Amino acid sequence: MRILVTGGAGFIGSHLCERLLADGGEVVCLDNFFTGRKDNILHLMDNKRFELIRHDVIEPILLEVDQIYNLACPASPVHYQYNPVKTVKTSVMGMINLLGMAKRVKARILQASTSEVYGDPLVHPQTEDYFGNVNPIGLRSCYDEGKRVAETLMMDYHRQNGVDTRIVRIFNTYGERMLENDGRVVSNFVVQALQDKELTIYGDGSQTRSFCYVSDLVDGIVRLMNTEADDIHLPVNIGNPTEFTMNELAAEVGRISGKEVKITHLPLPADDPKQRKPNIERATRLLGWNPAVMLADGLERTVDYFRLRL
Ligand code: NAD
Ligand code: UDP
Repeated sequence: MRILVTGGAGFIGSHLCERLLADGGEVVCLDNFFTGRKDNILHLMDNKRFELIRHDVIEPILLEVDQIYNLACPASPVHYQYNPVKTVKTSVMGMINLLGMAKRVKARILQASTSEVYGDPLVHPQTEDYFGNVNPIGLRSCYDEGKRVAETLMMDYHRQNGVDTRIVRIFNTYGERMLENDGRVVSNFVVQALQDKELTIYGDGSQTRSFCYVSDLVDGIVRLMNTEADDIHLPVNIGNPTEFTMNELAAEVGRISGKEVKITHLPLPADDPKQRKPNIERATRLLGWNPAVMLADGLERTVDYFRLRL
């Protein structure tokens, strides 16, 4: 099986490449190295079944593959807001190019969508049939709406052209190979704690997120790619439903890093969702999937990783 992973040099993508190689696949990793790094995949370069292509998904490319995982897109608010027009192009033009490829070579394609399609959700926990509460003109819209259009394209190519599609809505994921300067909360808190800096809590810290360790996430999306069912083309939430406030997360990072945490409060970014927690009944029913790694264990591995890097 030849498998294309776009965004394969990124945080989640590099873990996915590793897993697919371990399962015996032939992996083509495609990345423009905006937020990805060669470091993340250096250990895979000697593998004869691994191939790396520097390419931007907004440009068409001709490849012959059996499966496509489309992960190409910056995921941290800091990075996706750096060039918002480019972020929209990556999600929309990238999706069109890859769906065109999937149609041409009859490959199955999985899109890495996001819990951000629910925006600042008014339904809690979020089920896949919730249409969301997204601001179409705000600072987060380039990411949220780009991902929503990508889902639309997936469904239309499926209905119109019979492309074999899978959509995963990924909830906050963390683990080794996040960037130190990524801007997302787990890497920020861990790096700040290890450097004896104040932890930057945005707002009063009462907003919630549900954090999924990267190996659990990768297992969920590989299962989704390889499962058949009547309604398998409709989105599936993958995330860990255990919900934490940012205050609780800060305390947990302090406990695990063995540091006495000092906190500083910074303004809450615009449109920051107040709460987020996946309903994962669909993933459990269709894929037999449940997260296995608790926050304390995943954080311990993440702290060890950053301790080495710093
Ligand atoms: P990441 O920033 O580490 O990885 C994204 C990768 O895509 C990077 O390697 C980057 O260089 C590459 N990329 C960006 N634009 C590209 C382009 N135009 N052409 C080719 N490559 C490009 O982020 P991540 O956390 O690994 O996220 C991977 C995917 O999962 C993204 O699509 C993201 O939206 C989605 N996702 C992640 C999370 C999360 O919590 N990490 C949550 C929801 C969805
Ligand atoms: N956040 C925080 N301090 C930080 C970075 C983020 O308090 O240094 C908050 C942020 O406001 C949000 C939550 O943590 O409420 C998760 O932010 P992240 O950027 O990791 O993911 P997203 O908002 O996209 O879920």
